[in-house]
Amino acid sequence: MELRRLAGTDLQLSKLGFGAAPLGDVYGTIDRAAGVRAVRVALDLGVNVIDVSPYYGRTLAETVLGKSLAGVDRAAYVLASKVGRYGLAEFDFTAGRVRSSVDESLGRLGVDYLDLVQVHDIEFGDLDQIVAETVPALYELRDAGKIRYVGATGYPLGALGSVAARVPLDTVLSYCRYTLLDQAIEDWLPFFQERGTAVLNASPLAMGALTARGAPDWHPAPRAVLECCARAARFSGEQGSPLEKLALQFSAAHPAFATTFVGMADEQEVRRNIAWVDQPPDDRLLAQVRALIAPVHGYAWPSGRPENDVMVPPRAGGSA
Ligand code: NAD
Repeated sequence: MELRRLAGTDLQLSKLGFGAAPLGDVYGTIDRAAGVRAVRVALDLGVNVIDVSPYYGRTLAETVLGKSLAGVDRAAYVLASKVGRYGLAEFDFTAGRVRSSVDESLGRLGVDYLDLVQVHDIEFGDLDQIVAETVPALYELRDAGKIRYVGATGYPLGALGSVAARVPLDTVLSYCRYTLLDQAIEDWLPFFQERGTAVLNASPLAMGALTARGAPDWHPAPRAVLECCARAARFSGEQGSPLEKLALQFSAAHPAFATTFVGMADEQEVRRNIAWVDQPPDDRLLAQVRALIAPVHGYAWPSGRPENDVMVPPRAGGSA
């Protein structure tokens, strides 16, 4: 598997990253042993970076991941977790909770440091607090040797931009914003690059919408968008190629992202995604599917506090 340098760090990441949300039953109840095995097979086949959070399954994903990683050489993988979000509507961005949360994650994961800790879903918080309290608390943990790099995650790019403009961040994780449905992150890449903030790409399958199985019930996109995706999935299947293959190949092909995290729940998904990720998308099918999706292309759903998403992408070289 191709390795790519995460800009501004000493980390080399596999082009395909393991998204651990499904290990927390976020996409339906999974077989625990199959989840553990999925992680091990991914590591054996060259995936070297894993993203998790205490929020996924309310600590379940970290617990399952901890079982998967037991006995694996710590230097063989890059481990990213998060702080700040703990339930659907449970957030705590205080410095005290940052410290206890990281300690709890270390315990569940069975490791003595995390490579990256990200403030989870910042659009739901008070951005002033995140800038003045949450991120500085993470830098203190970095200085204490518990974590190596500091980042933030979220859906509205304006929220990620306004925090990155005010406080140094090693990474931002953006999800569902570079998929067949929406490529809005592209407008922000020069801005983050100028600040030395690397962009991690996540959810190439638009959280299940771009799969034959379809989106889970909780998916935030409106019905019209999901129905359009379902039509695209049927069409792609009729052409003899699953939509998830095209979606993953499209998303992971962008050279700006060191890795693209896809959520995986079992060994079969891991093996298929690893086989697909290094091949280019089929251009003809890509054009046909993009035409089918065009009516809903670029739709973005509301997420978090509206006042946190007011920034527009500044032009390269301009001020923020
Ligand atoms: P995704 O777009 O990666 O889709 C995951 C779904 O697709 C799961 O149901 C999975 O079982 C299924 N899938 C994977 N490979 C498949 C295949 N080959 N065939 C059919 N189905 C397949 O969405 P995601 O998991 O939400 O996102 C990826 C990861 O990115 C997450 O697991 C998480 O680690 C991270 N993420 C972070 C945030 C955040 O920080 N706010 C938000 C979203 C995602």
